[in-house]
Amino acid sequence: MEQAWKDYLEKNKERFLNEMLELLRIPSVSAKSERKEDMQRCAEMVKQRLLDSGADKAAVMETEGYPVVYGEKIIDSSKPTVLVYGHYDVQPPEPLELWHSGPFDPVIKDGKVYARGSADDKGQFYMHIKALETLVKTGTLQTNVKFLIEGEEEVGSPNLGKFVASHKDLLKADVILISDSSMISMETPSLDIGVRGLSYIEVEVTGANRDLHSGTYGGAVANPITILCKMIASLHDENNHVTIPHFYDDVVEATKEERNLMAQAPYDEDEYKKELGVQSLWGENGFTTNERTGIRPTLEINGIWGGYTGEGAKTVLPSKATAKISARLVPNQNSHKITEILLNHFKHIAPPTVTVNAFEHHGGEPYMTPIDSKGYQAAAKAIKETFGKEPVPVRGGGSIPICSILEKELGVKIVFMGFGLDNDNLHSPNEKYNIENFYKGIETIPYFHKYFAEG
Ligand SMILES: [Zn+2]
Repeated sequence: MEQAWKDYLEKNKERFLNEMLELLRIPSVSAKSERKEDMQRCAEMVKQRLLDSGADKAAVMETEGYPVVYGEKIIDSSKPTVLVYGHYDVQPPEPLELWHSGPFDPVIKDGKVYARGSADDKGQFYMHIKALETLVKTGTLQTNVKFLIEGEEEVGSPNLGKFVASHKDLLKADVILISDSSMISMETPSLDIGVRGLSYIEVEVTGANRDLHSGTYGGAVANPITILCKMIASLHDENNHVTIPHFYDDVVEATKEERNLMAQAPYDEDEYKKELGVQSLWGENGFTTNERTGIRPTLEINGIWGGYTGEGAKTVLPSKATAKISARLVPNQNSHKITEILLNHFKHIAPPTVTVNAFEHHGGEPYMTPIDSKGYQAAAKAIKETFGKEPVPVRGGGSIPICSILEKELGVKIVFMGFGLDNDNLHSPNEKYNIENFYKGIETIPYFHKYFAEG
């Protein structure tokens, strides 16, 4: 069986890659309404690829937003069913001038595919479609397989919860398998055992009822940019702890055992700093870098603007200043509760010289996969098979808001088997995916199905 998989992959490598590149050429940016046709075109292509790769059924299914692509291959209803989740939408490519090649014009350089969506998530969910093809064409599929590929992950999956809730039978499965994350390295394979949650707000500070002459009014009327910056600066104390009352209330402290396990992941601080171009790191005192990005909640300013930002000088005392602010959450923090806390905090700390209007963007709950679950065990065995090493369990710093919704609606556990690398430039210019990782994923996924069927 294993040899047949290897032979099939070897024979079809080139085509698998070219098919993935074709998917990357569609600018399926869910955040931009002018990409509506591209979104539809991308969904149709995914559906066709599912059918061409051995699915019995595939359909582009409407939601109130962008459609979901569903596909399935049912071999025997008494066998376990694996539901693969992925997303065909991508982040906006801007700033375009920082790309070395067109974001939707994939270029292969040094064994890497450069394009928006290469690692997040087209290149990764496509491995599952090609693994299905491998299993079907070699007659070795031992599980039922379902696919749920959505088009709104990058805008917070606003319609997926509803879709899942109203298609519970269709999506019924024994495990959910997601490749939308990264591993430590090819030498040290790892499996994510959790993702952080997210609270995202926007804060608008208004001073005077219009932009003012900074000479005539400056010094007499509060500048909303100054006030906003002061409020933002007060959010962390000298130990880089978040100062917002009740922010940490529901955080489950990681056990010593988990922290020890995490510490086994290789980490070279000098290399880390060099790679980022910083002289020194920043973070919550009392925690390592890995802990700061995995087991601890964080608060970041994602954008800030106000006043005159065009060419040259304009002596203006602006009327408004705005910031986008988000928090990454860990178990058992609740995103609705934290969002409320953030919104109230800004209103509370605002001085009477300004008015604050704060509102919510999107959020999501944190999620954890137990390492003794059947799905995690199957993934760990599959990784060991193709990498020759036991994977290190790690807590991912990112968020996949749909995780807690999927578990709640479908009642099964999620396994994260990501094949990306941390330097894939997700959401940044020059996103890439290593071709070796793409093939390694297609080689590993069949083992997951095998071990999950046997487990
Ligand atoms: Zn993603």
